Amino acid sequence: MLALEAVDARYGRSQALFGIDLRLGEGEVVSLLGRNGMGKTTTIRTICGLLPVASGRLLWRGAAIAHLPPHRRAWLGIGLVPEGRQVFPNLTVAENLLVAEAPPRDKAAEAWTLARVYAMFPRLTERKASMGAQLSGGEQQMLAIGRALMTNPRLLILDEATEGLAPLLREEIWRCLIALKAAGQSILIVDKHLSELMALCHRHIILERGRVVWSGDSGDLAREPGLQARYLGV
Ligand code: ATP
Repeated sequence: MLALEAVDARYGRSQALFGIDLRLGEGEVVSLLGRNGMGKTTTIRTICGLLPVASGRLLWRGAAIAHLPPHRRAWLGIGLVPEGRQVFPNLTVAENLLVAEAPPRDKAAEAWTLARVYAMFPRLTERKASMGAQLSGGEQQMLAIGRALMTNPRLLILDEATEGLAPLLREEIWRCLIALKAAGQSILIVDKHLSELMALCHRHIILERGRVVWSGDSGDLAREPGLQARYLGV
């Protein structure tokens, strides 16, 4: 579904990604791992069109998309839950969700609706008339996930999925992601909680200074504690 082939990206004259190769298939759940500043957010920004591809190829379902602006990529089915949530502070919960609404790309798929998002996150139902700015961090993250789901994404991308959340709220986010995976949702995720990622993801990709240095499944990662110490600082 998504392929990055030898992708470079830069901030001005400073190169941040070096020849990134990444593939993600339909229904796959993949994590991007690496210590701070290694290029995870930059990779996500490049996929979503918030940073240009300097060289290499970015393919979506076989077609080149590097020239498309972010909103066109969102329309193709790339849904982002950005770092720091970025909910609209002056819109209600319901309005935050409705502004993102887009029809499903796959006609056979069950569409995401307000009711379906509220069923996944009952806490949002209670807060549906509250302004985005009035929500707790955990509620804002649920809203950011709900907002991305309202676009009916073929691929859901989460940057720092549970950052700064209390343990109970983190659990709620993981529960939701496990349910999405079971329903066949493709997911690319960045998070710091390795054991939860290892339980959730089919595959992992480790970045080090803007380069892919390792990829494999959870079993491979568990069998290589040296790898975790070297690249993840755990
Ligand atoms: P973190 O977990 O800290 O967000 P990350 O793996 O997501 O880390 P990136 O944010 O992608 O890392 O950063 C990759 C590199 O690009 C770092 O060296 C960082 O300093 C640099 N960088 C990130 N944003 C910018 C920017 N707006 N301008 C210049 N350099 C940047």
